[in-house]
Amino acid sequence: MPAKIAIIGGGAAAVAMCLRLYENMREASEVSNNPYIAEIRIFEKNNTIGPGIPYSTPYDCHLVNFPKKIMTAVFDSKYLTNGLYGTDSGAENRANLFNSYLHTDYPPRHLYGEYLESRAEQIQNEAIKLDITLEFRRNTEVIDVKSLDEQNFLIEAKTENYTANYVVLCTGNMPSTNFRELIGKEGYWHKPFYSEEDAKNFDPKKSVVIIGSRTSAIDTALFLFSEKHAQEKVIMVSRSGLLPVLCPQKFVNYQLKYMPEYIEAAGTSISLDTLISLFWKEISDAEGCTIDFSSIVKSYKDTTALHWLDRQIKEAEMETPNPSSYVIAKVFLLFPKIWQALNESDQETFLESYYGLFMTYASNIPLQFAKKLRELIQDDRLCVRGGFESITTDTPGTFNVRFEDGTSISTSQLINATGCGYDIDSVPLYKSMHQRGLTAAHRLGGIVVNPQTFCVLNKDGIESARMYAIGEPTRGVVLATNDVRRVNWQAESIADAIFQGISA
Ligand SMILES: Cc1cc2nc3c(=O)[nH]c(=O)nc-3n(C[C@H](O)[C@H](O)[C@H](O)COP(=O)(O)OP(=O)(O)OC[C@H]3O[C@@H](n4cnc5c(N)ncnc54)[C@H](O)[C@@H]3O)c2cc1C
Repeated sequence: MPAKIAIIGGGAAAVAMCLRLYENMREASEVSNNPYIAEIRIFEKNNTIGPGIPYSTPYDCHLVNFPKKIMTAVFDSKYLTNGLYGTDSGAENRANLFNSYLHTDYPPRHLYGEYLESRAEQIQNEAIKLDITLEFRRNTEVIDVKSLDEQNFLIEAKTENYTANYVVLCTGNMPSTNFRELIGKEGYWHKPFYSEEDAKNFDPKKSVVIIGSRTSAIDTALFLFSEKHAQEKVIMVSRSGLLPVLCPQKFVNYQLKYMPEYIEAAGTSISLDTLISLFWKEISDAEGCTIDFSSIVKSYKDTTALHWLDRQIKEAEMETPNPSSYVIAKVFLLFPKIWQALNESDQETFLESYYGLFMTYASNIPLQFAKKLRELIQDDRLCVRGGFESITTDTPGTFNVRFEDGTSISTSQLINATGCGYDIDSVPLYKSMHQRGLTAAHRLGGIVVNPQTFCVLNKDGIESARMYAIGEPTRGVVLATNDVRRVNWQAESIADAIFQGISA
């Protein structure tokens, strides 16, 4: 019997999984001179394999937020040949198109989605040569996974059942849990706008409030102006009122001086206080002057959105180096290692007191976005307000947006763009698995997995050696998993473990 692997969710993580499994199997079959017989089935609830949610948006106003060369490098492969399949010139050509697009480092996300889609098809075609069946089940939502015995799982989709020896959960973002009480109210949208369908019933002749001021909120605001031709004011509100920083103009491989050594020496018990003081030491060293929490911009109280953008655009245009951004990019990559070595109380302090601000400085918007936002603010079409406190709905059809200074705004259109949520019971698949004890809810969100292997743990803390999770569902354990490099890193480690398992 061939080994059977079910991958649930057909986004970037699934493509990375397939690529690594294919490479492992190809190498093994070259050594043994035998084809490698296996069956891999990807279940995707939408109609394409590859783009997932982030890269499905067809609009040019939705750009990648990470340099394109790094994003395609993640899915590079020495084994996939180019242009062999009829008129399809393959993923390399898609990668070239993506990489050359408009001479910018930050092209539209749909180009990357097309690249991932053709990469998936390319792996599928190559796999046939090794006797690997790689099946794509599009428009097939998985609603439950059951454990049949120690070696087999039953995957229940709306239209079919499948028995597999291994299951990999790559389901991407979970719905936001903020403002759930407003779902169903007229004039309220619970998620950012990435399609016409998302924006159904939006009235461009009325003003709108977007909750959030990071990338999802910006994506939504730009969509409203470019695709919905918003005529009235768009107001973005958040607690900090800070927009993300600009993407670095140069990608510098900065060497941290203090933190890696401490992390290595501290092993499994890192102190948050020590880490934070070393972080400021890194930043101060890189900038050549003393910088700490008190000297940086932390909220709307320290700057206005216009001034924030203006300063950064000027620095980008003058190509002023931004050493802090190099440090932050490097520290971001250390997160998974740091996270697992912090105790529970330090993890909670970090999430409450530092994470939001860190992500403001770690998440980037491309220069062309920043210029567009500045223009919209200068023309008084867009406004960014900090000090957001709460929403009340005393009068039907009207939302009162309240601020900490006691002021409020009334609006009849409200969009929640605060990012994704982590409550597993908000997703039918995880809810069923949770109810039967096959998964457990992590106290900080997502499901509980072993931080080293990403194997899923059941309600009794027992690890399933054959069920894994990647990306956002593992958030509580790995913290941020929000770029393709992280998803790829998890996928490779899981693919290697599965390969070892089926080769044993
Ligand atoms: C708006 C947005 C923009 C982003 N931009 C960037 C960027 O520019 N650069 C970057 O590096 N990272 C970016 N990211 C981070 C992004 O999450 C990762 O890069 C990567 O796409 C995550 O891949 P994934 O496969 O885990 O999730 P996804 O790509 O979201 O794929 C999950 C897939 O699972 C499917 N699915 C879910 N549940 C089921 C089910 N029950 N049955 C069947 N199918 C199911 C979904 O339909 C989806 O296609 C962005 C994220 C978001 C939300």
